[in-house]
Amino acid sequence: MESVLVIGAGFMGSGIGQVCAQAGYRVHLMDVKPTALEKAMSEIKWSLGKLGSKGLLKDPPQTILERITPEQDINSAVKVEWVIEAAPEIEDLKREIFQELDRLAPPETPLATNTSTIPITRIAQATQRPERVLGLHFFGPVPLMGLVEVIKGEKTLPEVFERGVAFGQSLGKTAVRVQRDLPCFVMNRIFFAAFWEAVDLVAEGVASLEDVDIGMRLGYGWNAGPFEIADNAGLDTYALIRRSMRAMGEEGLVSRSDLVERMVKEGRLGRKVGKGFYRYTPEGKRLPWVSGDQSAV
Ligand code: NAD
Repeated sequence: MESVLVIGAGFMGSGIGQVCAQAGYRVHLMDVKPTALEKAMSEIKWSLGKLGSKGLLKDPPQTILERITPEQDINSAVKVEWVIEAAPEIEDLKREIFQELDRLAPPETPLATNTSTIPITRIAQATQRPERVLGLHFFGPVPLMGLVEVIKGEKTLPEVFERGVAFGQSLGKTAVRVQRDLPCFVMNRIFFAAFWEAVDLVAEGVASLEDVDIGMRLGYGWNAGPFEIADNAGLDTYALIRRSMRAMGEEGLVSRSDLVERMVKEGRLGRKVGKGFYRYTPEGKRLPWVSGDQSAV
């Protein structure tokens, strides 16, 4: 059984760990915070139970769960076939993690990052094996979304890139190839251009966020509106993404308004805390922030 080390057990890392275990990999799920690991394991258990009850799993939920080992250090890197990093979107942090991974992991092990914005080439520079560093960019919630973007850094070997495609497919995802390494890759350049524009339109009082979400659902066939997607993803992560996009010189794609940063300061982090652009009942039902026709911001 091949093993995968997933670094970071937050919204994305826990989902990535889960789908790897569902596909039969042995998973080392690593986080510096014990509380994050506990939360991840209980959410994975809940999600597997739900998928199992719908007949969507090949193996019993308990068997899948037992393939995952929560860990607080990175040392299992010495024995894994794959590494996927899903730590917060902070370039210096990711570079530190990759330096450590490069020191520990077997020389042939590919090191993948789930970064949303940072070119792979920049992260790869922290290692002595840039030809084995690639982007595996998943979409959340990972157990439900069918896509992985596979991104080639300037030095990524073609065979490592194709192994990334095959690995994504082994998780049941459709892989799309990003052949040139630029900030935010492809899907996020398109999505965030729309999302940050939506933030400005709402911040400037042009439309309510609820109307923007309804409009994108009904007018363009999106399954969820941009503000619904952001609340699910986590506004703290989106604030880091905005900062990172600006640091990459992508001012043209981000909002002029710092609305998301202000919401994060007020503790409105999205669905995970029950309040973001919308508010959520303990059962997870989404409600407008305020009743009536006022907007939430
Ligand atoms: P998150 O905040 O939910 O999770 C990050 C986790 O990393 C936390 O549990 C944190 O304790 C842990 N962590 C912090 N420092 C660490 C370290 N040194 N070693 C190991 N773990 C560490 O964030 P997220 O939303 O899961 O995002 C993770 C990455 O995935 C980011 O790069 C983000 O841009 C990217 N991403 C996010 C989404 C999304 O929808 N949220 C989608 C695609 C990609």
